[in-house]
Amino acid sequence: MWGNIESICQSCGLPIEDDKFGSNPDGTFSEDYCIKCYEDGEFNEPTIQMEDLIERSARYMSDDTGISEEDAKRKLEKLFPTLRRWNDSW
Ligand SMILES: [Zn+2]
Repeated sequence: MWGNIESICQSCGLPIEDDKFGSNPDGTFSEDYCIKCYEDGEFNEPTIQMEDLIERSARYMSDDTGISEEDAKRKLEKLFPTLRRWNDSW
């Protein structure tokens, strides 16, 4: 389902549509983050916790795909620790 999506946001875990990439300070596009998360080189919500963002993304994912929020949350809880923003080893 999400396997054929080329770009997912390395912050919120949601697929990034072509025109929804975040922006770097120099005005170029960020290939890693969506515009909701990252604008002009800064996170829009620098203090948000991973758990809070999982909840929010699960709602989007559930609306978008029709799976339950519970299922979406389980998937995202596995995905998030691998994302660049939340990966401790980064
Ligand atoms: Zn994002």
